[in-house]
Amino acid sequence: MNLIIIGAGIMGTTFAILAKELAPDLDVTILERLDKAGEGNSWAFNNAGTGHEANCELNYTPVDEEVISVEKALKIHAQFNVAKQFWAYLVEKGAIKEPTSFINQTKHCTIVSEPSIEELKLRFKEMSAHHFFEQMRYSEDFDQIKDWIPYTMEGRLRHEKMAATVIETGTDVNFGSLTEHMADYAMNELGVKIEYGVHVKRVHRSPAGSWLVETKTRGASVQHRADVLFVGAGGGAFPILKKSHMPFARRFTGFPVGGRFLQARITPEQADQYRAKTYGKAEVGAPPMSVPHLDLRVADGQHYLLFGPFASFKPVLEKGRGFIDYLLAMRLHDIPGLLNVAIEHFPLVKYLVSETFKGDKSMLEALDKFAPGLSKKFDWKPIEAGQRVQIIKDGDLQMGTEIIVSSDKTYGTILGASPGASVSPEVMLRALERMFSEILSKDDAKAKLKEMFPEDDLDVLINNPDRYRAVRDAANKALGITSKSTR
Ligand SMILES: Cc1cc2nc3c(=O)[nH]c(=O)nc-3n(C[C@H](O)[C@H](O)[C@H](O)COP(=O)(O)OP(=O)(O)OC[C@H]3O[C@@H](n4cnc5c(N)ncnc54)[C@H](O)[C@@H]3O)c2cc1C
Repeated sequence: MNLIIIGAGIMGTTFAILAKELAPDLDVTILERLDKAGEGNSWAFNNAGTGHEANCELNYTPVDEEVISVEKALKIHAQFNVAKQFWAYLVEKGAIKEPTSFINQTKHCTIVSEPSIEELKLRFKEMSAHHFFEQMRYSEDFDQIKDWIPYTMEGRLRHEKMAATVIETGTDVNFGSLTEHMADYAMNELGVKIEYGVHVKRVHRSPAGSWLVETKTRGASVQHRADVLFVGAGGGAFPILKKSHMPFARRFTGFPVGGRFLQARITPEQADQYRAKTYGKAEVGAPPMSVPHLDLRVADGQHYLLFGPFASFKPVLEKGRGFIDYLLAMRLHDIPGLLNVAIEHFPLVKYLVSETFKGDKSMLEALDKFAPGLSKKFDWKPIEAGQRVQIIKDGDLQMGTEIIVSSDKTYGTILGASPGASVSPEVMLRALERMFSEILSKDDAKAKLKEMFPEDDLDVLINNPDRYRAVRDAANKALGITSKSTR
């Protein structure tokens, strides 16, 4: 049986490794438009590199009339701890030599001022009662917060009331570097074929039932045949789905959101002083993906601060692709859904359009509001971030990701953007389970699965503190994350 995966981002390469490890006889090929793996949204500075585990993101714990909901946070934390098990497996078997080449321990903090202090206090109370977040600390003390996250406090007046939480075991992840490592391992050790410079134009069924994959390969038209297709093409997955003639394709349309960051190169000493990712609270009416945060980033051995993201309205499928590509991906039946979103989410559309025209000065002002005085301390430059294409399903805008699998299990795809790369091993494992259930029921596959994921059951991680601590500590040890007990 042959499997073709479209896209060598973190999703496609993870899917390829899982498929090949669990079913070594499978013939696996990845087709990638660019010249390298991990150069799309997974590339280091196309995303913020937060290992999302709900330590610091207020949007994962919505509050309604003093009642806080932590279910989403628990799920994401559990998913990230499944992801860490897989990355630890890759490190332990030598597929990735040096974990710091892609993952670096970085405090995860939240900082708020009035009137959000009560919300943070409530969040801390609820979350620190669960074993996932038992190491979380809370403070309203100026010096304590300054000690945790100096760059956000240095320019503030002492009487300004602030509150913060910290978890020491958070991470900064270079998903681009991780993807490159995984692509090398998949190709050199597992026998996965990766073809670069191959733009998939359209996929359709042959009369015999297999998938025909039509591509432009360095200017020439080339056709591939596949028994099973997995499309992990980021925003590029929408036009492929549209042209596949799958009956469910009509239900999905893409809602594109662009973004920018402010970036400043810093010295290793300055990085040591901060070593944090600090999340604030989104402005009223702003979408969850524009929660402001100030992040330490490590890429290619260099240290950076990143602030943003500044969301924008940018009608393209992927960074580097044009408006025409987006337009050509549209069908007449998509128009009512788009109009519905424009009307129902008018404040969001208005916000995105206004953010699009934000100049460098306004971006630096936003930075100073978050961390007074920081705009002058470092040499900041605006950079373009990756492109999110959110899902419009049946006319409704959704902020998460969705795995779609055809009823005959020969076509699978991932649509949407968030929480994304952080949870990719868990999400790809679920996709594989749905598409290759017969293979996964074999004893060899089950044993291999346990080796890669000692505990992938989210409910067990959520409800069994001892089991969770055991698998977390083992994965953290392999990845160089030190569990500091603060209790
Ligand atoms: C601004 C921003 C901030 C983010 N911050 C975070 C964060 O802090 N933490 C986190 O976990 N996630 C974050 N994300 C999300 C994360 O970047 C994505 O979830 C992840 O990179 C998606 O991986 P992917 O493999 O699906 O997509 P990509 O990495 O984009 O890979 C898709 C690949 O498919 C290829 N492709 C597309 N169309 C075709 C075609 N027709 N033929 C052949 N190849 C094709 C592309 O060239 C690309 O290489 C962020 C995203 C953005 C935009």
